Amino acid sequence: RIMYASESVMEANEAMTKLDEVLSHTPLAEPAQPVQPSGSQVEFCDVTFTYPNATRPALEHVSFTVPQGSTVALVGPSGGGKSTAASLIPRFWDVDAGSVCIGGADVRSIGSAALMDQVAFVFQDTRLFKQSLLENIRAARPNATREQVLSAAHAAQCDDILAKLPDGLDTVIGTQGTYLSGGEQQRGAIARALAKNPDVLLCDEPTGALDYQTGKAILALLYDLCKKSRKTVVVVTHNGALAPTADVLIRMKSGKIESFEENPSPVPVQELEW
Ligand code: ADP
Repeated sequence: RIMYASESVMEANEAMTKLDEVLSHTPLAEPAQPVQPSGSQVEFCDVTFTYPNATRPALEHVSFTVPQGSTVALVGPSGGGKSTAASLIPRFWDVDAGSVCIGGADVRSIGSAALMDQVAFVFQDTRLFKQSLLENIRAARPNATREQVLSAAHAAQCDDILAKLPDGLDTVIGTQGTYLSGGEQQRGAIARALAKNPDVLLCDEPTGALDYQTGKAILALLYDLCKKSRKTVVVVTHNGALAPTADVLIRMKSGKIESFEENPSPVPVQELEW
């Protein structure tokens, strides 16, 4: 008992340290006159950014425009600045120079709540909370109805997960043997992003934790969604094979843009071999 109790104390301590870290951050400065973005075009204008305590910039004089309703793949070697570029869109960090705009509005002038409503993310290593799948998917949009959550789960190919869980959407994840694999959690995270119905969807290695077929199906679905509802989808990927599937291909290296190509006839994801 003493052993278990001390383990719990250590876990609680670690959790408190992490919470402290989050709570000690200064909230983002809110604009005095928030600007409403018009559409979901994403534009980087001469962006330079250096991480705190880093000696070299992670991005240097980066400029590009992704038209509304396009899919863009950010590719290139590790450390090239792809994830950093994606993380500046929802203001995980603010630029040191230049600007990042959505729908013509500088992200710093949109207001954090409105910006969060506009942008959704799917990361490679998303973990679900120890809550029901319904609450997990609804986390990004608390007022979503059960039907909207179900339809997002269906769109994110979660039907087989729902079928195997004892209480379907109401099953609490991580209890009584209801553990989900990394790929299953990833699909839950994609359902969460879709339930939010964002204008801009950011995906950092979205298929990394998925098997080949599911990865392909999910990517096809994200691209399809982008086309049907004029959303802008930004995909950060190491997988060069995905490059021909996007409308816009941006190659990044050492914090700079190596090339920017528009692809008039992207290859449908389902026809791709990798
Ligand atoms: P990519 O996504 O292309 O692999 P990143 O955007 O992750 O590249 O990294 C770009 C550069 O920024 C690298 O030199 C990396 O080491 C650095 N970097 C990334 N994240 C951080 C961070 N949180 N703090 C300091 N440096 C970072």
